[in-house]
Amino acid sequence: MAGKVIILSAPSGSGKSTIINAVMSTGRLNLRFSVSATNRVPRGAEKNGIDYHFLATEDFRNLVENDKFLEYEEVYPGRYYGTLKSEIKRISDEGADVIMDIDVNGALRVKEKLGSDALAVFILPPSIDELRNRLEARATDSAESIDARIERAKYEIAQADKFDITIVNDNLQQAIEETESAINAYLNADI
Ligand code: 5GP
Repeated sequence: MAGKVIILSAPSGSGKSTIINAVMSTGRLNLRFSVSATNRVPRGAEKNGIDYHFLATEDFRNLVENDKFLEYEEVYPGRYYGTLKSEIKRISDEGADVIMDIDVNGALRVKEKLGSDALAVFILPPSIDELRNRLEARATDSAESIDARIERAKYEIAQADKFDITIVNDNLQQAIEETESAINAYLNADI
C-alpha cells in the first residue's frame, strides 16, 4: 500500500545520501524523496527544489507560523531544516511511498506521529574517526563546520537504539542491500 513513510537518519557523512540514492535508483521500490526546506546555503552541486528547498530565514519562519511543517528542527545553531506537509501530500497523491532524510530529533518526532505508518532507520558510521575522515575528504565544509558536525554526530549516535532498525555502513554495498531489504520487508509486511 502506498503512503508509508521511510525515515532515514544518520550523522552527516555516514553515507546516508549515497544509500538513499542507490536504494531509489534500483526502481524496485516505489519511493519518492521528500525534499526538505532549509535556511542553509547550497553546498557543492546542490540544486534548489531537488536537494532542498533553500529558503531565506524569514520565509522559513513564515512557513513555521503558518503550520506548513510536519516537523522542523534547528539542527545546527541558526540552521533550520523541516519537512513540509505539502511534500508528503504530493508524494501520497502520486501513489508512492515517502523516503526522508532528516535529523534524529525530527525522525523520532515523525515516528511518534505516524507510528506503524513509518519505519525509522538509523545508519551508523563505523566510528567517529572514520566519520571525520569522510567529512574531511568531502571537502565541502569548513573546519569549524566539521567540528560542529562531529559533536552533533556523537549526540545522534547516542539515540540510535530508539529507531526501528540500525544499519552499520562499514561496507557501502552491504549497507545499501540491508537498507533496501529492510524497507522492502516493511512495505510488504501485512500491518
Ligand atoms: P545537511 O546540512 O548535511 O544537508 O543536513 C544536516 C542535517 O539536517 C542532516 O542530519 C539531515 O538529515 C538533517 N535534515 C535535513 N532535512 C531535514 C528535515 O526536514 N528535518 C529535520 N529535522 N532534519 C533534516
